[in-house]
Order: sequence, then C-alpha cells, then structure tokens
Amino acid sequence: MTPLYFDNNATAPLRPEASAAIHKAMGAPANPSSVHSFGRTARLTVEAARESVALLAGSRAADVVFTSGGTESNNLALAGFAHIVTSAIEHDSVRACAVSASVINVTSDGVIDLEHARAVLAGLPDEQRPSTILSVMAANNETGVIQPVAELVALARENNIAVHSDMVQLLAKDHFSFAALDLDYASLSAHKIGGPAGVGAVLVKPGNALQSLLRGGGQEQGRRSGTENFIGIAGFGAAASAAFGDVAHYEAMSKWRDQFEDMMLAHVPDAHVFGQQVPRLGNTSCLAIAGKSAETMVMALDIAGAAISAGSACSSGKVKTSHVLAAMGAGDLAGQAVRISGGWQTKKTDFERLADVFLGLYKR
Ligand code: PLP
Repeated sequence: MTPLYFDNNATAPLRPEASAAIHKAMGAPANPSSVHSFGRTARLTVEAARESVALLAGSRAADVVFTSGGTESNNLALAGFAHIVTSAIEHDSVRACAVSASVINVTSDGVIDLEHARAVLAGLPDEQRPSTILSVMAANNETGVIQPVAELVALARENNIAVHSDMVQLLAKDHFSFAALDLDYASLSAHKIGGPAGVGAVLVKPGNALQSLLRGGGQEQGRRSGTENFIGIAGFGAAASAAFGDVAHYEAMSKWRDQFEDMMLAHVPDAHVFGQQVPRLGNTSCLAIAGKSAETMVMALDIAGAAISAGSACSSGKVKTSHVLAAMGAGDLAGQAVRISGGWQTKKTDFERLADVFLGLYKR
C-alpha cells in the first residue's frame, strides 16, 4: 500500500505540470535580464508565470514581486513599518518581524476577535498610524480556520493604516482576489499549491512602496534584487495555472474531512476537533486525543503508513508548544493535537483509509 500523505500544509507534492515546466526550464542558460535570445526567452517564461500567479490571486501581473517564498514575502511586506498590529496566531515569519507589535486575541475557535481588533486599532496614537501595518493571515496553517480578512481590511481603512495578509495557506483552496479585498500587500508561497519550495511572491497594491531587503541589481522593478530563480518561477507559474479550479476540489474535500472527523468523534474516546464550528479550509483537521501525546501519535501513524504532523511542523520539524493552540486556550490539549492536511492530489479514499488507520490504533 502506498503511504498516505496528509501533511500538505507543510508542503504539497510537486504537480506534474510544475515538474514538466521545471525540467524544461533547466535546459538552457536563463538570466531573464540578459538581452540575447536566451535571456529574452527566459524573460517570456518569467512574465508568463507572473500572469498565471496574478490570475490565481486576483491581482494585476505588475503587482506580483517574486521572492524566495512565504517567509521572505512576509518579511518584505512588513519591512517598511515600524509598528505591526497582528494576531496571536500568525506564522513565525510574521511574528519575528513584529519587534514593536500590538497583538489581537483570537476566540477559542481560533478566529481573530474583531471586537478586540477594533479596540487595538482605535487605541493607536495618531502619530504612529502612518508607520503602522495590520498583518493578518487569511487561513491558519495549524487549524485551517479562515479569518475575517475583509472585515479586518475595513477596520484598517477606518483607522488609516496599511494592511497585509499572509495568504500562503488559503491560496487556491478558497476564493481570493487581492484586488477585490483591497489589500496593500499579500504573501504567497509556491510549495503549498504544488509548486517547488523556495519560491513565492509578495503582491503589492499599485502605488505602494516596498522596502527592499536585498540591495543589488534592482531586479523585479527594483523591489527585489538578485537574479530571478528562473527554474522555481517557471514551476510556480505552472503550479498556479494547474491550481486554477482547485477550490471545487477543496469544497468536496471538506465533506470527506467532516466524515473523517465524525468517525473520530464517534469512536475515539476523548477526541477533540479544533475550529470545527467555524469556517475552515476544506483540507485541514486539527485533532487532539486527550492523554495521547502528539509526537507519539505522529510516530504511530507513520509506522502504520500515514504521514501527519504534530501541531505546526512548518519549521524544521522542531517540536514546540503551538502558540496557535495556546492562544485558543487549548491548555494541555495543545500538546496532544495533530494536524491532518490534504492536498491537490488527495482523494476521498485517502480520507477513508486514514480513518481506518486511526481507528485501528485508537478505537475504544
Ligand atoms: N505563512 C504560513 C501561513 C505558512 O504556513 C508558511 C509555511 O511554512 C509560511 C508562511 C512560510 O512559507 P515558506 O515555507 O514558503 O517560507
């Protein structure tokens, strides 16, 4: 039996379309800034990829700045701001930028608390507003809980501050339009949608400044220096085109995921699902079994042929208490929570097999 892969929020397998584009891009020397024919061909590939990413994200191609991934995109978007208003459940690549920060609470279901956001924003001193940005993720990587980004953008506008959203987990899994949401900045990452790791993009609203992190050759219209990761960008573009229409797949997946969770709650003693009562990405389930350590569960499932992760394993597999579940008031259950996340390749039968594996190990 092929092992089950249920860790797509950490990274998704490369799509065949991305793999083909990468192999093609690996053939010739390709510096898109070169004026000779090789360079011009590479430029065409980069610009086609920019169009594909823009189409998927509902932005203009000119708004897309290619980066080395979601981490750099978050760092780059926030670099020009002295103060960051953010939530308690952001990815570490946002939290690490928030040297001077105001933190918004989340509810026990993992949703950013709009009343608290309103109070935090209203309390900002007027002189701090021009150098302040609100940074809120669109969907959480551990729980899949979808955040009220449109409402938060409206609050940012009322308070005259800029707004950024980490769209890394939501991209291609739910409807999203950068332009319609009226965001100032958004972060994307290729490897969560079936592109290669090490490439992503920051979307920048027309007219907005971006404070470069890298100084040098002025690529990406002076916004991100360094010869473009041509091979990675080709893969990202192909993955973005292939991911168009994935939302329907994830809508169907939400039913397979719900059935899986219903089985767990019915047959596994003391099972608990985080964020079950609120809108979530269709692919994610954050599940705890009281008294069972997450690490032991991950190892037991691995041996039984299913790859899942403990809390957030985004960063080098290091085991630490989840700040997301702690912010939701999960207490001891935080150390007992595992994350199950499907991807573009996941089928209904995969969820059924996963349920069998879980029940084989933990059924009462
Ligand atoms: N933001 C979120 C919500 C993530 O889940 C991740 C995943 O690791 C990142 C940012 C970082 O993206 P990348 O791995 O491309 O640096």
